[in-house]
Parts: sequence; C-alpha cells; structure tokens
Amino acid sequence: MDYIIATHNLKKRDELCRILAPLGLKIHLAEELGITLSDPDETGTTFEENAFIKADTACKESGYPCIADDSGLAVDYLNGAPGVYSARYSGDHGNDDLNNELLLRNLEGVPNEKRSAGYVSVICCVYPDGEKITVRGECRGRIGYEYIGDGGFGYDPLFFPDEYGYKKTMAQLTADEKDAISHRGKALKLFVKELERRNDK
Ligand code: IMP
Repeated sequence: MDYIIATHNLKKRDELCRILAPLGLKIHLAEELGITLSDPDETGTTFEENAFIKADTACKESGYPCIADDSGLAVDYLNGAPGVYSARYSGDHGNDDLNNELLLRNLEGVPNEKRSAGYVSVICCVYPDGEKITVRGECRGRIGYEYIGDGGFGYDPLFFPDEYGYKKTMAQLTADEKDAISHRGKALKLFVKELERRNDK
C-alpha cells in the first residue's frame, strides 16, 4: 500500500522517511504525487488530537492513507510545558533558536536533578475509509545548560537522553543513533508492528 507523509517540517519529514523506508513501506511525499497539502491549524490540546488533525486533513485532501507525527518536549519542572506548544513556545512558529532560548531562561537556576524531561511523538495514520492507527513513543532525558552539537533539530542541542548517561546531547548523535532511541523511532516501530498485525504493509 502507498502512504503519504503529511508534514511541512522538513527535518521531521527526513526522519520519518529515513526510519520508514527501510522497513518496506511505500512512502511518498505529497509533492512527488503532484499533491499540495494545506497546513491545518493544530487546535488540539493533546499530541493525539493534533496528529489526527494533520493525518485526517491530508487524507481527505489527497485520497491516500496519510501518516502524520505530532511531537514535542515535556519538561517535568515546567509541568509538561512546552508540550503540544513546542514548535511555537516562543510565539514564533518553528523558530528553534527562540524556543531554545526561552526554555533555558525558564529553567534558569534549576539544578540538574530537576531538569528531567521527555520527548513525545504520536504517529497517526488515517485511511480513506476512515480507519486510523495511533501510536506513541517517548524518550526520557534531561535539559542541559547550553547548546551542544549540531545534528538533529529543535531542542536536540539541549536534550541529554538517558540512554547516553547525560554525556551526549541528541544533537551529538548520528542519525542512526538518534533513530534507535528517539520518541519518533519508538513510535514508528510500534506503527510498523501494527501494520504487520493488520497485514497491510
Ligand atoms: P509539531 O510539528 O507541531 O509536531 O511540533 C514539533 C516540535 O517539537 C518541533 O518544532 C520541535 O520544537 C519539537 N520536537 C519534536 N521532535 C523533536 C526532535 O526529535 N528533536 C527536537 N525537537 C523536537
């Protein structure tokens, strides 16, 4: 079956394609099929709601099964902020530098042991017959004090994943290393398992 990846975030789109393509899925970008998708307002208050809005809109506009990711960073000390507002934390949608600066400001003076956080990725796939699959992946870690590394995107230069013992930020990992532990990598593995269970890979 052919699927469309529905996202306008190019870095996220690269990660989704990179992880899904080797798993044997026929993944397309909407443009490759001559389709232009709109950018719906993310009016939900949960990652699940927003992932569904994006996948459902794209499916209705294209007629293909569409896969969308809604993701973000939830910082425990900030009661889960920026959460679903991660992309627009500073008010300027998708401005990673301003978002990171605001996060550091809001954690000023907070000691290391209270800087725990988790990345969340919810993947939703909506089919033209209205069926949907929703899966969630999480990656726990801590927020650092300065930017380290130039890989990844978003909050990666500030995020120390638990798996690397707080010695490397997500932005210092190779693409393969990030995919193996990331919220998105984990969610996509569950997604492919769900497809295999339904036998429609
Ligand atoms: P969305 O496009 O509305 O799902 O917003 C996702 C936002 O969450 C991004 O703009 C980043 O700020 C943040 N985010 C999600 N996944 C990652 C990641 O893998 N690394 C760094 N930041 C991420």
